[in-house]
Amino acid sequence: MSMLDLARPEIRALTPYSSARMEAGAAAVMLNANESPWPARSGLNRYPEPQPLELCKRLADLYGVGDDQILLGRGSDEAMDLLVRAFCRPGLDAIAICPPTFGMYAVCASVQGAGIVRIPLDDRFALDADAVLEACTQAVKLLFLCSPNNPTGGVIARETIEYLAKALADRTLVIVDEAYIEFADTPSVADLLARHSNLAVLRTLSKAWALAGARIGALLADAGVIELLRRIMPPYPLPTPCVRVALDAFDDDGEQRMLERVAVIRNERERLREALRGMQGVREVLPSQANFLVVRLDDAQAVYRRLVGQGIVVRDITRYPGLDDALRISIGTPAENTRLLTALASPFVGAGLAGGGSENPARRHVSTREDA
Ligand SMILES: *Cc1c(COP(=O)(O)O)cnc(C)c1O
Repeated sequence: MSMLDLARPEIRALTPYSSARMEAGAAAVMLNANESPWPARSGLNRYPEPQPLELCKRLADLYGVGDDQILLGRGSDEAMDLLVRAFCRPGLDAIAICPPTFGMYAVCASVQGAGIVRIPLDDRFALDADAVLEACTQAVKLLFLCSPNNPTGGVIARETIEYLAKALADRTLVIVDEAYIEFADTPSVADLLARHSNLAVLRTLSKAWALAGARIGALLADAGVIELLRRIMPPYPLPTPCVRVALDAFDDDGEQRMLERVAVIRNERERLREALRGMQGVREVLPSQANFLVVRLDDAQAVYRRLVGQGIVVRDITRYPGLDDALRISIGTPAENTRLLTALASPFVGAGLAGGGSENPARRHVSTREDA
């Protein structure tokens, strides 16, 4: 069975919009796209390539997949949205997620009118694979797994992912969001795509590659799935300057520079974890394979406000199930991390970390977007 059989019939039958740049990429005289003929100052008078070939090849290479197994979009967020739109019929189909996890999966499903099946992580924030299997009925077209998970920082074992992909073959597309995999001890599962056509992997340049502002993410999947999504994607998703900046980051020692940054973050993560664990008012610091730490506190709101008062913002994640006492702290530069520790250790309304604070735990963030 092809994964395409799981897609919405109306999407499979759709005649895609065919942009000028898809029909003809380059010629001496370009009179097919109603562009301005003058480069003006910016040199941006031409529409970009719908899928910039050079960057696609670089990333396919980097991630170890074929050129026809990659889709580039505006962050990996765009691929999530396209997947839900292509596979879930409103009111009939559903996605499955394992909360507490990244909020965009549920937002994409809600926008599409798809159902959301929730299989919570256990009390140690580990995945219950058999509970996931049981929950993935025929209606569940997409299973979103996040590894390392945002916000808990844990990874899902490769064997578990393979077990799920195997058991759900012909039924559900298993999507592993690896936004933070560069920070983890364990490698990507992208190589498993060769064996499981119902497996897909999300990667991004927003975290380890330090390019969040360029908005470039990738979906790695079965060539048929990629082809289907290309057909429903808006015509010119990736702005020319963003593509240039990304290609720049992949010069000769680009990967080396990325690895050096990652090494610093990993070191700092452990330094911070050790320091935080010893602080008064800290209940627990969850082990993390990502570039952030989750800290459970006696009074998360008070600590949040206190840090804001010192010019430091962290993420209040107390709305997540099982984390109503927690803050998520991104790992910064060594100097920023030291500043954070100093702010936490300084005397505060005559009390330790847990003391002080007003009685009003007003939430600053009401956004449903529980991302970075
Ligand atoms: C940050 C993050 C992303 C990346 O999103 P982009 O749209 O690529 O910037 C994806 N998934 C998770 C879980 C994240 O935390």
